[in-house]
Amino acid sequence: MEEHGQVVVIGAGVIGCSTAYHLAVMGIRDVVLLEMDQVGSGTSSKSASMLSLQFCQDEAVLPLALYSYQRYMAFEEEVGTTVDFRRTGWLTVAGPEKASALLEAARLLQSHGVTTEVLGPEEIARRYPEIYTGDLAVGTYGPDDGPFDAHMILWGYVKRAREMGVRLYQGVRATGIRVRSGRVEGVETTQGFIAAPVVVNAAGPWAAEVGRWVGIEIPLDNRARCIWVTRPFPEIPDDCPFVEDLDAEWYFRREGPGILIGMGTVPVDRFDVELSQVLRDAMIEVAVHRVPILAKASIQTSWTGVRPLSIDRRPIVGPVPSVEGLFLNVGWGGMGLIQAPAAGRMLAEYIVQGRPTTFDARPFAFARFLREGDRLGKGSTHGR
Ligand SMILES: Cc1cc2nc3c(=O)[nH]c(=O)nc-3n(C[C@H](O)[C@H](O)[C@H](O)COP(=O)(O)OP(=O)(O)OC[C@H]3O[C@@H](n4cnc5c(N)ncnc54)[C@H](O)[C@@H]3O)c2cc1C
Repeated sequence: MEEHGQVVVIGAGVIGCSTAYHLAVMGIRDVVLLEMDQVGSGTSSKSASMLSLQFCQDEAVLPLALYSYQRYMAFEEEVGTTVDFRRTGWLTVAGPEKASALLEAARLLQSHGVTTEVLGPEEIARRYPEIYTGDLAVGTYGPDDGPFDAHMILWGYVKRAREMGVRLYQGVRATGIRVRSGRVEGVETTQGFIAAPVVVNAAGPWAAEVGRWVGIEIPLDNRARCIWVTRPFPEIPDDCPFVEDLDAEWYFRREGPGILIGMGTVPVDRFDVELSQVLRDAMIEVAVHRVPILAKASIQTSWTGVRPLSIDRRPIVGPVPSVEGLFLNVGWGGMGLIQAPAAGRMLAEYIVQGRPTTFDARPFAFARFLREGDRLGKGSTHGR
C-alpha cells in the first residue's frame, strides 16, 4: 500500500471515528483512519451503551458531557443516522460509606443545570419496589440519561467521514511511527508505510503500546469489566431506569426483553481477556442482594471489555510535546461513547486551529503527567 495523508488516525473505535469525522468537518479531509480489526471491534462494541450525565461527576469533564449530550440530541440532523436514544433515567444508590460522595456529585450536577433528584431509601422503595433498600443511605435520579446504539454512532461517523473524503482501512495494523529530528513522518503498517505529518493515537486500551513506539509512557490503567444479558425477564418493568449500585460497582438496565448487568474493575495488561465466568458468582451475589427478584433470571450471553482509564481518571487529549505532529486522544475510560462528540471536536480543534476554543482542554493535556515531582497531576476522585 503506497499511501500518504495529512493525518493518520490509529484506531477506529468511537474516539478515532469521531476524530476523523471532526477533522473532515473542520476542513481536513485527507485523513487515513487505520483499524487493525474492524470498526468498533475494541472496547467500543463491548460497552453498556449508556448516554449519561449522571455518570460524569468530575467538574472538568462535565462540560464536555453536556456539549456531547446536545450533539447527540441533534445527531440525526447532523450526521444522518439515528442513535436510537431512549430516555429512561439513571438511578444511583449508595450506602452510608459513599453517601457523601454521591451527594457532592449531585450538587455538582445540579450546579451545571443537570436535573438530579436526591431520594431517601423510602422514596427509592416506593418508586422501585424491586430494589432492596434496607442498607441504603441515599440515591440520586436523573431523568435525562438512557441507552443508545454504539454501532449507529460508530457507523454514522464513519459513513459521513468517508463521504467527505476520509479513507478507512480495516484489517491493517499500525506497527510503528516514523519520527525524524523530533517530527512525525508517518506510520508503518502491516501493509506498508503511510506518510503523514500528523498522527493521532486513538488506540483505546492499546494506546500505551503505541506510545512506547516513540518512547513516551502514556499512563493508562486498563480495567476489564463484564456484561451479562439475561433471557427475557418481564418481572422488571419496562420503564425501570438504569440502576447503579455505587458500593458494589454493579449496575443493570433493561435490554430488549432481558436485563443487562455490568460489573468488574479488574486491572489487565491483555485485551483479549474473558472474565465473565470468573466474576459470575460474585456478580450474582450482588444482583440477588440488590434486586432479589433477579434470582429467577438466567443468563443468556456475556462478554468482557477493557475500559481504557488513565491513572487520574481524566482523558488525555492533545499534542505530545516531545514529538512534533503526534497527538493523543486516549484514556476515555468508562465514558468514551458519552464523550465522543467532544473528544473528536477537541482534538480536531488542536490540529486545525492549534488549540481548542470550544472547551477548556487544559485539564486533559498530556503535559500534566510531565510536571517535575508531580507525575500524577491533579485529577478527579470520582472518575469511573
Ligand atoms: C463493560 C463496559 C461498559 C461500558 N459502558 C459504557 C457506557 O455505558 N457509556 C460510555 O460512554 N462508555 C462506556 N464504556 C467505555 C467505552 O466503551 C470506552 O470509553 C470507549 O469505547 C473507548 O473508545 P476508544 O475508541 O478509545 O477505544 P476502542 O473502542 O478500543 O478503539 C481503539 C481501536 O484501536 C484499534 N487499534 C489498537 N491498536 C491498533 C494498531 N496498532 N493499529 C490499528 N488499530 C489499532 C483497536 O482495534 C480498536 O478498535 C464501557 C466500557 C466497558 C468495557
